[in-house]
Amino acid sequence: MHVKDNLQQIQKQIVEACERANRNPEEIKIIAVTKYVSIERAKEAFDAGIIHLGENRDDGFLTKFEALGDKPTWHFIGTLQSRKVKNIIDHIDYIHSLDRLSLAKEINKRANRKVNCFVQVNTSKEESKHGLDPEQVIDFVKELENYPNIYVVGLMTMAPFTDDETILRNCFRQLKELQLKIQALQLEYAPCMELSMGMSNDYTIAIEEGATFIRIGTALVGNKG
Ligand SMILES: *Cc1c(COP(=O)(O)O)cnc(C)c1O
Repeated sequence: MHVKDNLQQIQKQIVEACERANRNPEEIKIIAVTKYVSIERAKEAFDAGIIHLGENRDDGFLTKFEALGDKPTWHFIGTLQSRKVKNIIDHIDYIHSLDRLSLAKEINKRANRKVNCFVQVNTSKEESKHGLDPEQVIDFVKELENYPNIYVVGLMTMAPFTDDETILRNCFRQLKELQLKIQALQLEYAPCMELSMGMSNDYTIAIEEGATFIRIGTALVGNKG
């Protein structure tokens, strides 16, 4: 399938989910997750009009960045080791995986600008998933005041891989509730206006629960090189 055709299907789903939730489809930004696919396929996505591209490893990101340049808006969506920060920091527009102070410190040190960050939250409480426990998030965000190059644009979560709608909805709702709590703090460095949630198998539910960035790989560009 061409990316364009997949995109049309997804856009239709987005419109329908927004109708159900009484939202404006323009609030939803699609990140094409290109981690499984070739440079050519990533280019096809960009040429189809998807300006947000996401990668989850530093080497994968750098390969795509070298080929596509800085026209796309680049999202780093994977676990980020502190020692890798310096490799990507100058080229990345959003980091979705801020989950510890040591990483905040390294980003703060290496960046010569404010960096758009999502705080990653482990809403599913699965051991294998990265991210902060929901109970830790508020204190963590308050601590980030000490790192002037960190700008908290929002929260990110990965729901478990399941078809159980109740479990999925519960994860996304927790993220929304945390967002409202952070917004109520009115922190200049943490407006927290975005929610990065929803992947190929659960993005319509994520939209119903308030997602503003959805991260889609398989359903959009596929998952084979
Ligand atoms: C791979 C990945 C995605 C995309 O997953 P699909 O199920 O292929 O849409 C989204 N978010 C993160 C953090 C990922 O690692």
